[in-house]
Amino acid sequence: MDAQQLWEGLDEAWREAFRQAWDAVRGGNIGVGACASTVDGEIVHASRNRVNEKDGPYGEVFGSSLAHAEMNVLARLGFRKDQNLVLTSTLQPCLQCAGAIRLSRIGTVRFAGHDVYWDGYHEFGKLAAREGQRRRRSAQRFGPRDDELGAFGLLISRFRLGNPRLGDEGFEATLRAMGEGPVLDLAYQIEDGGELQCLMPMEVDQVLAAIWPRLQALTAQYRAI
Ligand SMILES: [Zn+2]
Repeated sequence: MDAQQLWEGLDEAWREAFRQAWDAVRGGNIGVGACASTVDGEIVHASRNRVNEKDGPYGEVFGSSLAHAEMNVLARLGFRKDQNLVLTSTLQPCLQCAGAIRLSRIGTVRFAGHDVYWDGYHEFGKLAAREGQRRRRSAQRFGPRDDELGAFGLLISRFRLGNPRLGDEGFEATLRAMGEGPVLDLAYQIEDGGELQCLMPMEVDQVLAAIWPRLQALTAQYRAI
């Protein structure tokens, strides 16, 4: 399979989530995008990470460490409306977003990149007995993807441009100890070598194609672990 075949085989919610993630990178944010859609695939709301922005659409969070892609999608869904929606994200949800998803009307979560740092943080039943007994079921989860799109979703969230925390030695060492070394190395190589600036004007599917052989190598490396 090549990049174009993969892209053309995706449904519109996946494509929109990745367009949003690339817009987040372009805007100097952490590269994560998400969207909510109906079970029939109609997109209800799409948004992205806005942690480093000074302005943003009505009802979304920006210029704050809380301004994650999933939060900005959930923030715009009608209160107690839109039940059983599908949330599609380019990266595994963090603790904050997993909590918001738990309190939302999302029926299904799909995510591409494996953010090992947040593995297991969606299991709220372990927090308290009452949480485990709540009638409202947790969202069904599908992810991370073990294909090149999964590697791509993680990679574009790991540029230091929008994520100063990656410059923190302790945090980076933790990620490397959890196996993220090859992804971080590739992200920094693309960023530091000036390639990221060349990729910026491209559409996200073109970016996917431009780095495809390296994503294939990365995917093969992770599958071998
Ligand atoms: Zn989050």
